[in-house]
Amino acid sequence: MKIYKFGGASVKSADAFRNLAQIVQNHGSKSKLLIVVSAMGKTTNALEQVFDQAFHNKDYNNTLQQSRDYHFEVVQALFPDESHPVYEELEHLFSKLNDTLQTLNRQAGYDQLYDQTVSFGELMASVILHHFLQLQQFTNTWIDSRKYIQTDTTWREAKIDWNWTERLIKRDLPTILEQQLIVTQGFLGGTNNGQTTTLGREGSDFSGAIFAYCLHAEAMYIWKDVDGLLNADPKYFTETVRYPEISYQETVEMAYYGASVIHPKTIKPLANRLIPLYVKSFLNPAGEGTKICDCRYQKLAPAYIIKENQCLISFSVKDFTFISEKNLGTIFNALSELRLKINLMQNSAISFSVCTDCHEQRLEKLLQTLQDEFIIHYNTGLTLYTIKNYDTNSINKTIDGKQVLLEQRTRTTFQFVSK
Ligand code: ASP
Ligand code: MG
Repeated sequence: MKIYKFGGASVKSADAFRNLAQIVQNHGSKSKLLIVVSAMGKTTNALEQVFDQAFHNKDYNNTLQQSRDYHFEVVQALFPDESHPVYEELEHLFSKLNDTLQTLNRQAGYDQLYDQTVSFGELMASVILHHFLQLQQFTNTWIDSRKYIQTDTTWREAKIDWNWTERLIKRDLPTILEQQLIVTQGFLGGTNNGQTTTLGREGSDFSGAIFAYCLHAEAMYIWKDVDGLLNADPKYFTETVRYPEISYQETVEMAYYGASVIHPKTIKPLANRLIPLYVKSFLNPAGEGTKICDCRYQKLAPAYIIKENQCLISFSVKDFTFISEKNLGTIFNALSELRLKINLMQNSAISFSVCTDCHEQRLEKLLQTLQDEFIIHYNTGLTLYTIKNYDTNSINKTIDGKQVLLEQRTRTTFQFVSK
């Protein structure tokens, strides 16, 4: 059996849905297939905005209405018969979303309520896809992934309870897959008392990998709007090359450094069961794409990875003593409590610097927590550049003309932070 994951861009319009059905027809209909789908287009961003407005008692009606119009426009184009049940189901989801927004219990906190709200994007997309495939004669079952992917309550970045998840998936899904396709949501999980969680932005890839792992899939496919795994983001670089084949490890490292092509947590479950991951273009499905697997090769083209919105924080001890392991422990604890991920760090005699993603609120809390013990300086709005498998040429052309605040090099990786 195979897993297909379709991201937001592959369901952003009625034509995109039609193209998706064509891909299922040409590539997926010969084997057992579970389809994981993200929210349509930029819906998650829109819902984040709706939720943020609602949480702060601002008027969210316009933003919500736009998202509603968008969904119904697509549905009207796909289902000419307005008595089709999809209309009622979508209506029902929007009314549930509205109820959720109107009854936010702010005591629960921002992140928990975020999950209860933003999750509607995937529910809507999957309901539409379920009905549309059905209409195209692909008999399929719609599955609520929150009932299978079991998590803790780390809101917005929930951790998987692998044992439970695997047990539930194995209990129900193989039997269904014997008969028909499954359509389910990416990004979502559920707790043991029925609350919705999310797995982190762009987490649908990870959802696909969880299903692949639990079902011992023969392969997972991610259908994207690029030709495969490229050595650089075409948004920033004019010349890119596609890797036809690349190892799990290399991909994990690229994702870790911030390559946006695959969610960083996706690879581990696949690698553990040696399930190959194909990254393919939904615009050019016949193209070769990239195969990510347990493979070896001589030399890879340098990979360029850019992480924006970085913050460089440096800590020094107030009385000019050296930075000790105990000091580092204090700093690491505070970073970990606040879920500020370290992307790069450097230690000197009297100071310690870290480069993290910039989250204003978390950063403020960090300063509050540590300001009594340390002198803290920080810069925001920075960019972290990483070159994997670098050579002199690739470094020179990247660093050219930039003001470098911190740099670090290992045998395979060159990184620097710049304004
Ligand atoms: N819809 C979610 C997001 O945009 C999850 C995903 O696309 O993977 O982050
Ligand atoms: Mg998305």
